[in-house]
Amino acid sequence: MKVNPQYSTKEALLELYNKPLLELVFEAATVHRKYHNPREVQMSSLLSIKTGGCPEDCGYCPQAARYHTDVDTHKLMTVETVVEQAKNAKANGASRLCMGAAWREVRDNRDFDNVIEMVQSVNDLGMEVCCTLGMMNEDQALRLKKAGLFAYNHNLDTSPDYYDDVISTREYEDRLNTIDNARKAGISVCSGGIIGMGEAVEDRMGLLLSYMQMENPPESIPINALVAVEGTPMAEQKPIEQWEMIRMVATTRIAFPQSIVRLSAGRTKMSMEAQALCFMAGAGSVFAGDKLLTTPNPEFNEDVEMFKILGLEMKAPFADGEQPISESDPIIEARKAKEAARAKELAEAREKAKDENFAPRKVTVEG
Ligand code: SF4
Repeated sequence: MKVNPQYSTKEALLELYNKPLLELVFEAATVHRKYHNPREVQMSSLLSIKTGGCPEDCGYCPQAARYHTDVDTHKLMTVETVVEQAKNAKANGASRLCMGAAWREVRDNRDFDNVIEMVQSVNDLGMEVCCTLGMMNEDQALRLKKAGLFAYNHNLDTSPDYYDDVISTREYEDRLNTIDNARKAGISVCSGGIIGMGEAVEDRMGLLLSYMQMENPPESIPINALVAVEGTPMAEQKPIEQWEMIRMVATTRIAFPQSIVRLSAGRTKMSMEAQALCFMAGAGSVFAGDKLLTTPNPEFNEDVEMFKILGLEMKAPFADGEQPISESDPIIEARKAKEAARAKELAEAREKAKDENFAPRKVTVEG
């Protein structure tokens, strides 16, 4: 059961969310045990492959160029750096690497070619590869799929009603289209939201309702708590109560029994006990590593310790779907062939010039 039809209205979701907490957690834990192994939690790693300078105006995001934040802007990492980071994350127990680029949308250029190579290389390491690159069209989604992309992340963030209070530079509909393009390419969808942005509980349920209304709800639903960053319009938002995060995780779990609910940003503000309740209520993944794109996050070793205390096991990669096969990319192949031909031409021209320079001068002997 992908969605629980009992919760296909906002009213029903609200009633569920507002249940006495322990009852809600118990119900969520029951659903979780039916569809998932409750001892397994996926350790994922989120890597910012291109940071800052984004033209969008998402009110929570320190990477938007228009806000004055301390984010250390950097252009796209090299394929080698990403592979090195992926190997480190894997050695620390991560089975999934999510690569995030602060782009409004994917462009068909050299940077995207490099991302394609990153996807191929990380998939070859035996890790699930997820990308979050902004809006993309169907052809771009297909290229990513062929490169071996396992999942595409594109969050709806909040309800359609509250959306305009958060972002003005792209429409809710644009987000739905990108999700649809990933779907059409056969890529698994990761899409969720952020709580604590000043929205009402109705908006949180409105977000879940948007996923309810999809023909195919996301396989993965990250639940984030706002990390209020100085310089962004949401800098003054008060942190949410831990109970709200637990309620949101539990409600998502019950409404979408088969999806992986990911406990994402905001974990540094949560106690281990609160996180334990989230795991009990159905969270099946955490992001480990000292940074979540640009905001603070628990270190790998802190999570390893928490797993030990709670008796959790790290989930193996591709437990929820087959590993894609990375195919060679015709655009990159054609470019490389062109570059090789050009390099050969240049080398030949250099050789020829050398030969001409060193050709023996004709000497005429007069007799
Ligand atoms: S959330 Fe993404 S699209 Fe929005 S400003 Fe940040 S990097 Fe840009």
